[in-house]
Amino acid sequence: MTGPVLEVADLHKRFGGLEAAAGINLAVRQGEFRALIGPNGAGKSTLFNLITGYLRADRGRVSVQGRDVTGLPAYRLFRRGVSRTFQISSVFSELTVLENLQVALVSYHRQLYDMFNAATRRHLAECERLIGIVGLAGERSRRAGALSHGDKKKLELAIALGNRPQLLLLDEPTAGMASSERLDSIRTVHRIVKELGVTVLFTEHDMRVVFSVADRITVLHQGRIIAEGSPEEIRRSARVQEIYLGESVGEGQER
Ligand code: ADP
Ligand code: MG
Repeated sequence: MTGPVLEVADLHKRFGGLEAAAGINLAVRQGEFRALIGPNGAGKSTLFNLITGYLRADRGRVSVQGRDVTGLPAYRLFRRGVSRTFQISSVFSELTVLENLQVALVSYHRQLYDMFNAATRRHLAECERLIGIVGLAGERSRRAGALSHGDKKKLELAIALGNRPQLLLLDEPTAGMASSERLDSIRTVHRIVKELGVTVLFTEHDMRVVFSVADRITVLHQGRIIAEGSPEEIRRSARVQEIYLGESVGEGQER
């Protein structure tokens, strides 16, 4: 049996008087599609930022595939196969879909982006492969700024897959989408990463989305994990229902 792809041990982060991470322990297995949920302000983004090197932990450890990566900056984690997408879009709107991917790949390989440069051309096949995977072949020459919201998300996913990650962290992948688009969108992501064998940790506040794709769910509240289990276990948890008072956890989901 292989160890977890991601392991977080006793992670702490304080902002002034506020404990945004208060001793978090988490293990995500190879190939899992794991949801991290919790009310606004629970500490989901903070945990993501601690794992991916955008914030420095006060205490604790983060390991990826058994190697200690605590405090490594984001670009070094990226080179070790850890990718992430952001809640807010991060593509270059003046560049085309293809150019956005070329820039990302070239920078991943630490080269200078130049359209007439051999290195840039060399990555073309890989860019086309990624564009195909996420289903943007028809949009390859469009300016990213002119893409629909859903297609922009696909482009971000393609960029995040550019380092052939072992572990992918998605912070609110359906944020800003119409309710009707969200399920389709997360299912596309789910299908792609399962095919590629990528392990995923994602945050999401739409419970239909969470319960339709997550293998396991971790629930954060005030910087602490208060529940973890299968979607069925989480749906039945009295503690989870209590913190989501008023919201019906997992109701209205489609399979
Ligand atoms: P979530 O993503 O679950 O909504 P966050 O991780 O963004 O929650 O925030 C957790 C808590 O930490 C919140 O109370 C938030 O206000 C606080 N917080 C987050 N980032 C910072 C920061 N850079 N400085 C101070 N407080 C922060
Ligand atoms: Mg957040």
